[in-house]
Amino acid sequence: MQTNFTDFQLEDPTLARVDSILRRCIHCGLCTATCPTYVVLGDERDSPRGRIYLMKQLFEQGEVTPTITRHIDRCLSCLSCVTTCPSGVDYMHLVDMARARIETKAHRPLGERSLRWFLRKVLPYRSRFRFVLFFGSMARPLRGLFEAVGLKRVAASLALVPPRLPRLKLRKPKDLIRTDERRIRRVALMLGCVQEVMQPSINRAAIRLLKRNGVDVVIVKDEACCGALTHHLGHDDEALASARHNVDAWTAAMREGPFDAILITASGCGTMIKDYGHLLARDRGYAERASQVSALARDITEFIEEVGMTTPLMWTSIKVAYHSACSLQHGQRVEIEPRTLLSQAGFTVLEVPEGHICCGSAGTYNILQPQLSAELRDRKLANVASVKPDVVATGNIGCINQLRAGSAVPVVHTVELLDWATGGPVPAGLEPLKSKIHPIQNLVEMATV
Ligand code: SF4
Ligand code: SF4
Repeated sequence: MQTNFTDFQLEDPTLARVDSILRRCIHCGLCTATCPTYVVLGDERDSPRGRIYLMKQLFEQGEVTPTITRHIDRCLSCLSCVTTCPSGVDYMHLVDMARARIETKAHRPLGERSLRWFLRKVLPYRSRFRFVLFFGSMARPLRGLFEAVGLKRVAASLALVPPRLPRLKLRKPKDLIRTDERRIRRVALMLGCVQEVMQPSINRAAIRLLKRNGVDVVIVKDEACCGALTHHLGHDDEALASARHNVDAWTAAMREGPFDAILITASGCGTMIKDYGHLLARDRGYAERASQVSALARDITEFIEEVGMTTPLMWTSIKVAYHSACSLQHGQRVEIEPRTLLSQAGFTVLEVPEGHICCGSAGTYNILQPQLSAELRDRKLANVASVKPDVVATGNIGCINQLRAGSAVPVVHTVELLDWATGGPVPAGLEPLKSKIHPIQNLVEMATV
C-alpha cells in the first residue's frame, strides 16, 4: 500500500512503525473472507482491508472521525486476518496503535466513556470484580427487563454472570505455593484476574495436572492483571504499567530459582504476555527482562504436551467439541497441542465447522458490542450443535462465559478435562456424563474374566 507520511511524521517511531506495516498490505482482500465482522455485516469498512484504509487515514491525517471510531470499535481483535494474510501484515500491532490514538482523541458519549472507564477500573482487579459480580448475580434475573427498556449492554453483561457464583473461596496466593521433591520442572502459574474470580477451579485443575506430571508450581503473589483488557480499550499507559508490574514480580521471584516457563491458562492473557517483549522494547529499564518473560510465557497445553501427560485413568466415550479460542489459534498459533492432549486423555475430539471464526467474546467486546457479539455467539453455537458433542472444551475464560450464556451442552476449560481423565474430580456440570466413563482398572478386570 502506498503511504503519504511526511519526513517529519516519520521521525515519530510510532508513525514509522505504522508506515512499515501499511506498506506490506497488497490489497488482495484474502483477509475479508475470514473476518467475522465482514462475514456478518458485509461492509468493506468492517473488513481488515477496509479498516487498514481507515487507519491509514487516521495516522496520516491525524483525524479521528466517527466513522473511523465506529469501524475500529467493531473489530474484535480476533487476529483471524493475521493468520490469513499472505503478505505478513502485522494487523495486531496496527490496530492496537490505532485504538490508543482513538482513545486520546475520540469524542465518545458520556455513557460510553463511563462504561469503558468502569470496565478498566473493575475487571483487572480481583477484589473489585468479585464485589461487582456479587451484585450482578442478584440483578441477573432482571436482565430481560433491562433488555426491554433498551439497556442492552447491561443485559448482555448480566447474561455473562454465572447463575451461581463459585463457592471456592479465594485463598491468598502465597498459600498456594507448592514444592515437590520429584520435580522435573519448575514453573510459575499465572492466576489472572477475571478467570480467578469467575472460575477458580480452572487454575486448581491446572495445578493438580502439573503436579501429577512432576512439575513444581509457584504462584507469584505479586502478579497483577496481564494488561490485555486495558490494552484493547486503548489505554496503553495502564496496560504497560501492568506489564512492568508483572515483569518485576516474575523476575524477583526468579531470584529464588529460575522458572522453566510462565504458564497461562487464559489464552487472551497468554497472547498479551508473549507480547511484553515487543510492548516494552523501547523501555530501557524493562526491555531485556520483558523479552525474557515473553520467551518463558507458554499456554498450559503447550507445556503439558512438551513434558508429557500421565496415562489417563479412565476410558470414555465422551465426545468433545474443541473450540479453538482466537487468542490461542490466531494470537499464539497453538492449535495442535490441546487437540492432541484431549485425544491422549481418551476423549473423541470433534472439529467445529468455521473453527477460525470468533465466538464474539473478545475481551469486553460482548459488553461493548452486544448485538454483533450475540450474532457471532449464536453462529458459533449452531456450528457446535451440528457436530453433536457431549461437551465443549476451550482454553479461554472469555469464550467459556460467552458460549455458556447460550449453550445447550456444558462448556469447560481443556485442563479440567485433562485433570479429570488423569485422576482429578469431575468438572462442575459434567456429572451427567459420569455414565460415559469407565475406570481403566475395571476394563482390565473385564478383559481378564
Ligand atoms: S482482527 Fe478479526 S475482526 Fe478485526 S479485522 Fe481482523 S479478522 Fe476482522
Ligand atoms: S490479506 Fe493481507 S495483504 Fe491482503 S488485503 Fe488483507 S491485510 Fe492486505
